[in-house]
Amino acid sequence: LDLRNEDLREISELGQGNGGSVKKVEHVPTKIIMAKKIVLIDAKPSVRKQILRELQIMHNCHSEHIVSFYGAFVSDPNICICMECMDKGSLDGIYKRVGPIPIDIVGKIATAVLEGLTYLYDVHRIIHRDIKPSNILFNSQGQIKICDFGVSGELINSIADTFVGTSTYMSPERIQGAQYTVKSDVWSLGISLIELALGRFPFSDSGDSDFEDAEGTLSPSRPPSMAVPHSLSAASSGGTTPKSTTTSRKDKRKSMGVSLQGGGMMMSILELLQHIVNEPAPKLTPEDRYPADAREFVDACLLKDPLTRPTPKDLLKYGWVERSRTTELDLKAWADTI
Ligand code: ADP
Ligand code: MG
Repeated sequence: LDLRNEDLREISELGQGNGGSVKKVEHVPTKIIMAKKIVLIDAKPSVRKQILRELQIMHNCHSEHIVSFYGAFVSDPNICICMECMDKGSLDGIYKRVGPIPIDIVGKIATAVLEGLTYLYDVHRIIHRDIKPSNILFNSQGQIKICDFGVSGELINSIADTFVGTSTYMSPERIQGAQYTVKSDVWSLGISLIELALGRFPFSDSGDSDFEDAEGTLSPSRPPSMAVPHSLSAASSGGTTPKSTTTSRKDKRKSMGVSLQGGGMMMSILELLQHIVNEPAPKLTPEDRYPADAREFVDACLLKDPLTRPTPKDLLKYGWVERSRTTELDLKAWADTI
């Protein structure tokens, strides 16, 4: 399929991320509906060509838990990536709409993500690097697929050069500068699963003096996003305005060159990163609300030492995953309700 921007008719906007936006489009010649991701990068033409070459690997990624790829092209000055459009959107949008996701469905999600990650790593030696609810997509057929994995080293570099965004799903070892491994993805999966089951970002637990919860625990919290000074204006004009915060904290944040965006939670990104490194990992609580095998699984994902933390492949053998596989659950019927 030879994709050209002129052949794509815009239908609607699917979402906005740190590095660009995603639109629902129709490829007019074939009538295929696609999601077109526009990645804003500021790179030399040679670098962009290299990125396009690297993205071609995605043509060889075929798994029922990986969003399929139609092609990528340069549309000056951006890069456009066209992929399968998942009509129910991402899981963050879903839980923010319908509330906490039932734990049996979270089990199916865990299984799907692990299968996707295992496929990417075993077959292509690709580490995802950005597992989070907004990169886990769902459709009305009840399929769960992951997207936005790090196929292109050059693209990862370019985005890092132009926008130093720090993901709060990052594992303690990554925060401390260690190499990325598949186990870092496992940590991010653990955080994401708790978020889906609780219906809020897990690092927003009140009762901890490190945290400011402006609206109590009723409203879903959003993970804070950080913008480095040069993108600060973009982040603050597009982001939500903090509803309440203490002046001293605001000033402290400002002086650190960190801009914050949060619904129910206000905490500086640096405090959060410190918390992830120094404090015990979050858990699936309260205990009586979640099955023991699910809690055990999440605890294993969130082992702080990457040496003891299991790989995605190891996790496929865990009790909760084996039970989830055999649990009769009509995801298509659930899709109709959301
Ligand atoms: P992020 O993943 O950080 O939210 P992105 O730019 O990757 O930022 O995506 C923005 C939003 O677009 C996502 O949150 C998701 O809801 C939506 N989206 C991305 N890819 C697709 C897709 N293939 N199908 C449907 N929706 C998508
Ligand atoms: Mg994404």
